[in-house]
Parts: sequence; structure tokens; C-alpha cells
Amino acid sequence: MAGHVEIAGGGIAGLNAAIILARHGWTVRVHERALEIREAGAGIFLRKNSIDVLEMEGAFADLAPCGVKILAARIADREGRIRQEFDVTPSRLHCVPRQSLVDVLAQTARQAGVEIELSSTATAAEPDGYLVMQDGRRRKADLVVVADGFRSPIRNALISGARAWELRTTVNRHLVSGREIARAPITTQHWSGNRRIGITPTSETQTYVYTICHDDDAGGRKLPLDVEDWTRTFPSLRETLEVISAAPVTQYHYHLVKCPRWQKGRVAIIGDAAHGLPPTLGQGAGLAIMNAYALAKCLDRQISVEEALRQWEERVRFVSDRTQRWSCRYDWFTREWPESLEFLRPVIFWMFGHLPLLDRRMRVAERGLEAIGFAPAISSASAG
Ligand SMILES: Cc1cc2nc3c(=O)[nH]c(=O)nc-3n(C[C@H](O)[C@H](O)[C@H](O)COP(=O)(O)OP(=O)(O)OC[C@H]3O[C@@H](n4cnc5c(N)ncnc54)[C@H](O)[C@@H]3O)c2cc1C
Repeated sequence: MAGHVEIAGGGIAGLNAAIILARHGWTVRVHERALEIREAGAGIFLRKNSIDVLEMEGAFADLAPCGVKILAARIADREGRIRQEFDVTPSRLHCVPRQSLVDVLAQTARQAGVEIELSSTATAAEPDGYLVMQDGRRRKADLVVVADGFRSPIRNALISGARAWELRTTVNRHLVSGREIARAPITTQHWSGNRRIGITPTSETQTYVYTICHDDDAGGRKLPLDVEDWTRTFPSLRETLEVISAAPVTQYHYHLVKCPRWQKGRVAIIGDAAHGLPPTLGQGAGLAIMNAYALAKCLDRQISVEEALRQWEERVRFVSDRTQRWSCRYDWFTREWPESLEFLRPVIFWMFGHLPLLDRRMRVAERGLEAIGFAPAISSASAG
């Protein structure tokens, strides 16, 4: 089945859905309220579930050279000692600059025939297939996709009981020019108390750094980064912190979305609007990309849009729900773990890294399309 789709939101979720639906024969128009397609923030991790889909839609070949294929993930303590190291090559992990990701998605979408209207704000989605615009136009469609991000007033008006709120974790994302602080294709997370620093190469010439702390940690949240304060927490990182403090930075709060259903009539809700979650497992965009692929496949197999959307949610939702729960546990563990129990933390790290059942449950999304019953049409085993 194919027809016409109107999409509210030109972020990662909306652009990716646009490409997949266009590749499945739909005519697609994306409405983005901003003046340009733009991503705030620094780098983003892409895992197997999103890479498989990006490959199938023809975007990954252009995207991969913009980023870095990560070979290993490390956890280090406050003194810089490596406590754990994982080979991540079997599960595939890339880090790319956020702006490169949306640029490649927008370019691929346009090549696939998608119309992208900038400065175009949607205000409501109606279950019988209308996207209502701020200027009063009503865009008729066979399918409406709501991808307007975690606050999503459109979702709140459409789905009773939908809620979004901020968690008590602050993250500062820095984009450092140069690779001096991350020469190898390795991602390292330094832990000390309730603070974390993640350092990852994100392109040949840039390094993505995030610093994370509790909202009540005034010194940790301060911008520009307080080098003296953070050096007290991570004494071995003073020189690195000096480099980080000079880089452009954006501040965020972790957030969470509870949306009791993802579809109503001819309207589907995707991306953070449907399942916004803390990025502790690096899966927000990954879920959006994977779920959009499943949406197109369900639409292919059904004669009615309404039935296809019901089946889509029934089939894929458990992966996002489970990933949301584990992301929140991980966030709590890193943010609220009491200092008096610090000695137990390495044991819990060890369990996360070495108990296969726990790992399989927590990282269900990483198993990719197989986890939701859509085996990829390409073999990724030999790909980068
Ligand atoms: C610190 C941090 C780190 C993260 N790291 C990762 C990671 O490593 N890997 C990963 O997979 N995910 C990660 N995520 C999550 C990921 O960034 C999000 O899941 C993803 O960006 C959500 O995309 P989206 O398109 O759903 O929403 P958004 O990015 O919010 O995009 C929504 C778009 O809709 C537009 N819009 C809003 N309202 C309207 C309207 N009314 N009409 C028209 N347009 C509208 C907005 O301008 C915007 O362009 C991270 C998130 C954070 C905060």
C-alpha cells in the first residue's frame, strides 16, 4: 500500500521516516518549523539497529566517511585506570557529527523525491488524515506522521494521558576541534561519584565530549566548564578538561515521554514524541530509525492504514518500552547511587558487562531489526 504522507518535524525521526516511506512508493512532504535543517549538540552514536536501516535506505554510504567507526568501549575510574574494556566490533558502533547525520538524511530524502517545507509549523494532527498548519492550511494525507520531538503539543492534544517531563540529570555536550584527546577509535567513559565524562572521536578532525551530573550539582553544571571543580573529581584529566572547556557547548536535561499509544486513525507518532528516553544506552534516534522502517513494512502488508498502524505498534513497541525502562535504570544508577555504596559499583559494572541475560534484556534494541521480527534485507556482517 502507498499513498501520500504529511510529516510534522524535520529532525532525525521525521527525515528518516520520509526516506523510508518514499522508498516504499509514498509521496512525502516534511514540515520543519525552523528556517533550516539543523541539529543542536555534538556527536551521536549509531548502533546496529540504525546502521542496518540507514544502509538499506542508501544514506549510510555518504554518512560513514563523515564519522568514526568505534572499535572498543572503555570505562575508566577517577584516576584514569581502565576498569572495563569491550570489543564493540561485533555489534557495530559509529559516532558521527549530528549535523552530518541530518544533512545526509535531508539530502537522501530530497534525492528520493521528498518535499521539505522549511518555516512550516504544524499545530494539530487529525485521525481522519489531516495535518493542520499554523497558517490555517489543512493538509490532507493517507498517513500523517508526528515527529515533532519530546515536548510534542500535537501528541499531547491527540493522545489522552501522554506526558513528557525532564529528569534530574544535566548533560553538557561539547564539540572539540581536533583529535588530540581521542586519537584512537575508542569511546571512553570516566566515572567518579555521580559525575561522568564521555570522550569519543566523532570525525577525522573532531571529538565529542559529554559531561554529566546531577541537577543539584551546581559546580558540575556550570558553563563554561569549571576546570578546577572537575579536576577535583577527575585528577588525571586536568589537561583534557582544559581543552574541553574551550569548546562550543550545549546544555540539556535528560527527559522521558510516556505515550499510552503511538497511533490513532491515520496518525502515527514516532521518535522522541513517542518514546523520548535518557540517552544512557545511546538509542533514542536508533529506535526512531528502526521503528520507521517497521512502519513502512507494516503499511506494505496491510490494505488499511489504520490496521497497519495498529499492527505496527503491537509488533515493535515492546523493544522501545524495554529500552526506555533500562535507560532510566542506568540513569538512576549513575545519578543517584549513594557515595556510601561506592565500593559496590564495580560489581554492578561487572554484572552489566558479563551476565549475558542481563545484557540481552538491557540491549534488546541493539539486536536491531531481528528483535522486532524484520530481518534486514542486506548482510551487515562484512560491512563497516
Ligand atoms: C545528550 C543526548 C545524547 C544523545 N545521544 C544519542 C545517541 O548517542 N544515540 C541515539 O540514538 N540517540 C541519542 N540521543 C537521542 C536523540 O538525540 C533523539 O532521540 C533524537 O534526536 C530525536 O529525534 P526526533 O526527530 O524525534 O526529535 P527532535 O530532534 O526534537 O526533532 C524534532 C523536529 O521537529 C521540529 N518541530 C517541532 N515542532 C514542530 C512543529 N509544530 N511543526 C513542524 N516542525 C516541528 C523541530 O524543529 C525539530 O527539527 C541523545 C539525546 C540527548 C539529549
